Amino acid sequence: MNLETVKRVKKSKPFTVIDAVIVAVLAALIGVISWLVFRAPSAETVVITENGVSHEYSLGKNAEIKLEHMTVHIKDGYVWVTDSDCRDGTCEHTGKISRAGQSIVCLPNNFVITINGKGDLDWELGRQ
Ligand SMILES: [Zn+2]
Repeated sequence: MNLETVKRVKKSKPFTVIDAVIVAVLAALIGVISWLVFRAPSAETVVITENGVSHEYSLGKNAEIKLEHMTVHIKDGYVWVTDSDCRDGTCEHTGKISRAGQSIVCLPNNFVITINGKGDLDWELGRQ
């Protein structure tokens, strides 16, 4: 390698920095796209467990489920509880949940509502 070649390599350095930036941007784009794909609400389900018995509902389908101790609402991708007869009211105060991994718990009624995501990738991406 002669001196001219070394100079040329040094001159070309800014381009390799730009290459690295392009690669970083592409990697970030791929990450965002896969996040968008896996957060699709239609792929998520609402699991209602009462006294150990589970029922599954689609988060994308609006519903009003009247139960013995409370009413569960599923609307526009959100889930919440009203009309609970429990003492502490924690389940109602939890408010609306909409993301995979979130849950509403009612200890007095032995009752849990959980939103389940499409796959394990949800956990890898830190969506809880
Ligand atoms: Zn409650």
